[in-house]
Amino acid sequence: MTEVRVRIAPSPSGNLHVGTARTALFNYLFAKKNNGKFVLRIEDTDADRTSQEYIDNIFDSLKALGLNWDEGPDVGGPYGPYTQSERFDIYPKYVQELLDKGFAYECFCTPEELEQEKEEARANKKPYVYTRKCENLTEEQKAKLRAEGRKPAIRFNIAKAQKAFHETSMLTFDDLVKGELHVDTDLLGDFVIMKSNGAPTYNYAVVIDDMLMKISHVIRGEDHISNTFKQILIFEALGAEVPRFGHLGMILAPDRSKLSKRHGATAVSEFVEKGYLTDALINFVALLGWSPSDGEEIKNVEQIAQDFRIGEISSSNSIFEYDKLNWMNSHYIKQLSIPELKERLKPYLSKYDLSELTDEQYTRMVEITYEPLTLLSDITDAVPYFFGEGVELDEKAKETLDTEVSQDVLKTFVEQSADWEWTEENLHEKLEAFRAFYKEKGIKPKVTMWAIRAAVTGRLCGADMTATLAILGKEKSLKRVRNAMKQTV
Ligand code: GLU
Repeated sequence: MTEVRVRIAPSPSGNLHVGTARTALFNYLFAKKNNGKFVLRIEDTDADRTSQEYIDNIFDSLKALGLNWDEGPDVGGPYGPYTQSERFDIYPKYVQELLDKGFAYECFCTPEELEQEKEEARANKKPYVYTRKCENLTEEQKAKLRAEGRKPAIRFNIAKAQKAFHETSMLTFDDLVKGELHVDTDLLGDFVIMKSNGAPTYNYAVVIDDMLMKISHVIRGEDHISNTFKQILIFEALGAEVPRFGHLGMILAPDRSKLSKRHGATAVSEFVEKGYLTDALINFVALLGWSPSDGEEIKNVEQIAQDFRIGEISSSNSIFEYDKLNWMNSHYIKQLSIPELKERLKPYLSKYDLSELTDEQYTRMVEITYEPLTLLSDITDAVPYFFGEGVELDEKAKETLDTEVSQDVLKTFVEQSADWEWTEENLHEKLEAFRAFYKEKGIKPKVTMWAIRAAVTGRLCGADMTATLAILGKEKSLKRVRNAMKQTV
């Protein structure tokens, strides 16, 4: 069997999209499963839409997801270069081969002439297919057109290639995901493979690269199916082995429209900025079209690779359920160790002065705050009261403090705690006794604690109160309580 070689071939016209991440993952898994090679190729033939920033983003995002490539622009490999703009000297040779074999021809049509053809097709309500008026130009006619200053583009001759390798105009291939797919090639139209300025087009360059990079399986989105037919004919015309193709269903938003910015994040780096873990993201995208045989959805890439079979990928579209991703993310956050959390949460705490806390205090703060987080970024709003001297009271806290019971609780708390040893262990005991003291008077323990929490944190919900008091220290805690006593009633 020939070596399995797959590739991900993003165009750097934007940050790496989650859809491309899923395609990359399925290619990566297929390579892993079959002891093959996973290649990264940058398809930057469209210079106007390409930027180095996007190329860097593609590299960083794939790496962050753990989708490391065996061959690619940075690591090299036997079939490089792996960036299309560095391969421009390779493409003309095969154009010439196609011209020589009669599978391509020069087209001198101007954009205006082509627009007119399209206009006529529209007027006749017919799908536009190039009229092939340049197919049989004589050398004399071509010379004349050249003399007019026209530079030809090169078109692929679909009908010639189809006739040479197939009995009818029907072209069929067996898709790894979708089964048999076919098209009537009469409807395809001779497409440009090299523009008049010498630049190769996508459908042509991709074939030359897949051929020279010995790609055995092309796994990509189903939006490329119509391209695949054209590409198969080019492979055949060049006498090259045609790779196997597999087309993945699209990823749709919950409202079943195309996933776009208005639904939320779409680029991997955007998800990361928002506080998603790449482990959660990769696990989630794996489930867009694939289901584990044991029904256990939480799996890392290694575990997914063991179970993965390309024939089991669903051929239909998948819905990108942000709620499910959120659930997964909170699960993955809970799996992180405290030292890892301490590091990963830091970027989301930049608005606070972390030097206010000792390492021990910071550790404890993380221990008591990470569990309810859905996104790492949720930490920002979860911890303001651990920083600064005072706190701002929210409406509910104000309401709570604006009662006689609360004010009595605070007054007693200040009096009783004056000689408490301010360790978490001791506070635990003392607060228990404090609550019991009020319970005797008919005040529910939670009401007692709301008063203290409202005064010290400015809100009614938050992390464990005993630990919070211990982290803040006696002085700061009591200062806030006294402030709350002054501000209200
Ligand atoms: N550059 C193409 C894209 O980003 C790659 C398509 C392919 O995999 O052939 O859509």
